[in-house]
Amino acid sequence: MIEVRRHASQHDAIGELPLLTESARVTAVTYQDDDRSEEIATAMERLLADVAIEGVDGAMLPGEWEAAAEAATAAGRADLARQVTALGRRYDRPYPMLAAVRFDTAVDVDFVAGQYVGLTYEGIPRAYSLSNSPAEDELEICVRRVPGGRLSPRICADLAVGDELTIRGPYGELVLGDHAPRDLAFVATGTGVAPLKSMIEYLFETGRDEYDGQRRDVWLFLGADWTDDLPYREYFRDLAATRENFHFVPCLVFESLLSEWEGETDFVQDALLAHVDPDRVTTGVAAPLERRLRREPRSGVDARIDPGNVDVYACGINAMVYSLLAETDAIGVPDQRVEVEGFG
Ligand SMILES: Cc1cc2nc3c(=O)[nH]c(=O)nc-3n(C[C@H](O)[C@H](O)[C@H](O)COP(=O)(O)OP(=O)(O)OC[C@H]3O[C@@H](n4cnc5c(N)ncnc54)[C@H](O)[C@@H]3O)c2cc1C
Repeated sequence: MIEVRRHASQHDAIGELPLLTESARVTAVTYQDDDRSEEIATAMERLLADVAIEGVDGAMLPGEWEAAAEAATAAGRADLARQVTALGRRYDRPYPMLAAVRFDTAVDVDFVAGQYVGLTYEGIPRAYSLSNSPAEDELEICVRRVPGGRLSPRICADLAVGDELTIRGPYGELVLGDHAPRDLAFVATGTGVAPLKSMIEYLFETGRDEYDGQRRDVWLFLGADWTDDLPYREYFRDLAATRENFHFVPCLVFESLLSEWEGETDFVQDALLAHVDPDRVTTGVAAPLERRLRREPRSGVDARIDPGNVDVYACGINAMVYSLLAETDAIGVPDQRVEVEGFG
């Protein structure tokens, strides 16, 4: 039985971690998402233009999406209601939602890729995973705004260069295992990628993407609703362009409503299955899983995963983590080669 480490309910414990500094200085705040209101308004108009449903017309404002979704549901158009709701929620959400924050602690920090720190800003302590390589002098985190939350909206909207933070830790046990000859598959939703990015940076910097002169394939399956919700997407795209053995597979549930997205739209764990070599699965899987295994990937990546020769690291929402565990178990990835952390 694989242990799923939980993110939740750890705020109180943050204050108990060893103090690193009370005066880490913020050196950069970079918003990673975009304000796409105009795109959404156009997409909503396009979506509703020729819909023959009473109470719905193409001139409806995105702000009226709830009425449009209700009318679509009442007319038995569940799929349309789902699309309208996705666009409407995106329209309503605040901007920015996703911020990368760098800070200088002015003291040496010895952390292992995958660990987190306790950060206190304006008296509010929260845990954030370190997203950069331990080889760098500064530390970096990636924060998603939780609407109504006490700290994350302030980090996303108010935190500025020069602000001071109290930092505790580092801490955490989701870290890379021993250097091994196997391939590596990282799986994340949203900011769950932060600790995995630190690991990926570290392993390429230190040449751990090779073992005994043999390259290991390194995969990242990263899931989000929209393309600009993918933390560090440019970094990962550049890495995939320069490292033949790094395969970046973004999985975007709703992006095709806004742009010509032709990549993966499945959940990350199902996209992983589609990239497994079915001939290497010897466990005998049930028909629905077999279908997911046999599905043609939409990522354009030709490499395939051998479940008997891969280490899996996952961090993200619990629904993804538990579903991934069921799938890796079914296709025969040994338990000791799967490390996961779940939240939400
Ligand atoms: C080990 C660890 C590592 C973490 N790493 C990161 C990271 O890298 N990036 C990051 O953005 N966050 C990370 N978090 C979550 C972070 O610590 C905060 O919980 C988050 O920023 C929300 O804080 P808040 O003060 O804004 O919301 P709160 O005021 O604490 O919460 C408001 C409400 O929102 C709910 N809630 C809290 N978090 C979420 C969520 N993620 N999604 C939906 N509802 C939520 C709470 O249960 C509560 O009901 C991590 C947490 C842990 C324990």
